[in-house]
Amino acid sequence: MNFKNGKTKWTELYSQIPEEILNKILLRTDTFDRIGPIELPLRIFFKENQEPTKFILYYYGFYKSGENYFLLTQKESLMFDNPIVRVSSNCNWAFDLRSMRCDCEWELEYAKKVVSEESDQDGLIIFALDQHGKSITGGIRGHALIYALGQIQKQDLVYAAYKDNGFRIDYREYDEVISILKSLNINKMRFLSNNPEKIEAFTKSGFGVTRVPIEKPYDKNDSEELGVKKIKLGHHLNLENFNREDISIYGLDPSKVFNGNGNH
Ligand SMILES: [Zn+2]
Repeated sequence: MNFKNGKTKWTELYSQIPEEILNKILLRTDTFDRIGPIELPLRIFFKENQEPTKFILYYYGFYKSGENYFLLTQKESLMFDNPIVRVSSNCNWAFDLRSMRCDCEWELEYAKKVVSEESDQDGLIIFALDQHGKSITGGIRGHALIYALGQIQKQDLVYAAYKDNGFRIDYREYDEVISILKSLNINKMRFLSNNPEKIEAFTKSGFGVTRVPIEKPYDKNDSEELGVKKIKLGHHLNLENFNREDISIYGLDPSKVFNGNGNH
């Protein structure tokens, strides 16, 4: 088989599988392929009981962009009413290396817990596998560039490392996530997010959106990630114990990073 020819590789991959089996696990639409269900037992950090929690996973692959997503739920029927929804972006630092500099891992674990405790299993997570570094060009390469650029110039890695080097602060688009949700006939949801731009993107697309907070309890390691998100990006965060000076643990100057903005 020739897997190097991008256009035909999917067809060739599927062509060896008997059609009656393939039809049970593959859904082809005009814009994406969906593969599943796949059962996965997942560990959830916040649960005292570390027994595996059963999730059902679907893979989505979009033809045009080539981007990949997982949908995680416990609802076998995929019939949702007013689901709790988390849209999680991949982060190579958090998920491959367990970096404590960002809250990505905490947020995903929290979302898994909330979804697993939902009554009638009315909840799902969409994990955007290619949205490293807020979807900057180059994926992991771009994300690595932002971290290295920001650190060498003593810029925060959430806002200034993008903006002051001529990049956009956030490249993520949610059209593909929206098309996944719409394909499941979801039109209203309880949305786990603190990000006003993300909430607006889904509201504008016609979903009835009720925001549900998802805030990591503050510690010094979050001073840059959460502090900048709140003060410079206007995220809905309380950050009760936040102290601007904490950002010096990363060698950053609080007066430069926060520019006197905000109310802390
Ligand atoms: Zn991260």
